[in-house]
Amino acid sequence: MSAARTPTGTAGHSPLVIAIDGPAGAGKSTVGRAVAERLGLDYLDTGAMYRAVTFGVLRRGIDPQSIDDVAAVAAAIELDVDDGRVVVDGVDAAIEIRGREVTSAVSAVAANSAVRSELVRRQRDWVTEHGGGVVEGRDIGSVVFPDASLKLFVTASPRVRAERRVAEIGGDVDEVEASIIERDRQDSSRHDSPLVEAAGATVVDTTGLSIDAVVLEIMGMLDR
Ligand code: C5P
Repeated sequence: MSAARTPTGTAGHSPLVIAIDGPAGAGKSTVGRAVAERLGLDYLDTGAMYRAVTFGVLRRGIDPQSIDDVAAVAAAIELDVDDGRVVVDGVDAAIEIRGREVTSAVSAVAANSAVRSELVRRQRDWVTEHGGGVVEGRDIGSVVFPDASLKLFVTASPRVRAERRVAEIGGDVDEVEASIIERDRQDSSRHDSPLVEAAGATVVDTTGLSIDAVVLEIMGMLDR
């Protein structure tokens, strides 16, 4: 790490923000957490925020495609997403947001523009409150923090991503791969803030690389 950098940036400069985007299961969270720890920064998983809103939508019995009802949930919902903690309207949802029901509905909720603008506002507030951070998602370098100190697009082949998911949470590799490809398709083809390589982002392909190797590569980028 460069000696000139501090977690909140050097005096007079904007806080250090590292934007990590990429498709489902590419290793963004593991890499992001490790980089945050090395830099003494806090870490925000914005996917958990979209999942948390989806959890709130399903819990209220609302159709995830119902634009206005879903927008109203996003505006009113109480979210506490921080460091592995996910509390939605006072209910611990850390496990349920990773379940199949939320996973298959989240792309529809995330395509809702009112949901996006509400969560983008909350993400920017989080970074202000935390004096910078490592922020992970799909549109962080393109929309939320286009002026981030470092923008990364972390990816890997769909097969490798599916194999990693199965090693973590079980399941059938073919099924998980199909669900990952479908989620990528929906996230990349939506009208509002699609998953794209942001201008100025460095692509990090984690296929065949260990987490340690990826983290080292990223730390090397910060030294330059
Ligand atoms: O990162 P994760 O796979 O948990 O994200 C769940 C979903 O949330 C994604 O498939 C995507 O639809 C949505 N998302 C998004 N923008 C972000 C983060 C996640 O649209 N910044």
